[in-house]
Amino acid sequence: MCIFCELANGRIPTNKIYEDDICTAFLDISQATYGHCLVVPKQHFEDIFSLDEEIGKHLFKVAVMLAKRMKERLNLEGINILNNNGEVAGQTVKHYHIHLLPRYKNDDLIIEFKSNKLTDEQFKELVEKLQ
Ligand code: 5GP
Ligand code: ZN
Repeated sequence: MCIFCELANGRIPTNKIYEDDICTAFLDISQATYGHCLVVPKQHFEDIFSLDEEIGKHLFKVAVMLAKRMKERLNLEGINILNNNGEVAGQTVKHYHIHLLPRYKNDDLIIEFKSNKLTDEQFKELVEKLQ
């Protein structure tokens, strides 16, 4: 049993803020910041690697719409959009979802990037791998 299949399809109640044929958005049970919510497809995909592209497109469209709605209705100053894929990336629920994390001055959410340097050669090699 996948808990997010149950939540997104309304078989277990949620604090739902949006629903259409393809996805549901509801408040995260653990509010990393005030208004933290999740956009979740009704169909089960484990992660971005197996996600249908058209559904991915739709989920992001909904995330954009909700970000604008949240900006209007919550007294927020920014939003982080986050999607964890794989345990190493912090994914705990194996059903694809997008986090919307409202940001406020002096909130205690930490999202930190370390600055790792690459040589020009390493950048070139990386571009060749990924282009
Ligand atoms: P992940 O770590 O996989 O990116 O995020 C999973 C998120 O799902 C966490 O932020 C966690 O608080 C949330 N979550 C887990 N179980 C439930 C639940 O039963 N209901 C709701 N609303 N959120 C949940
Ligand atoms: Zn599922």
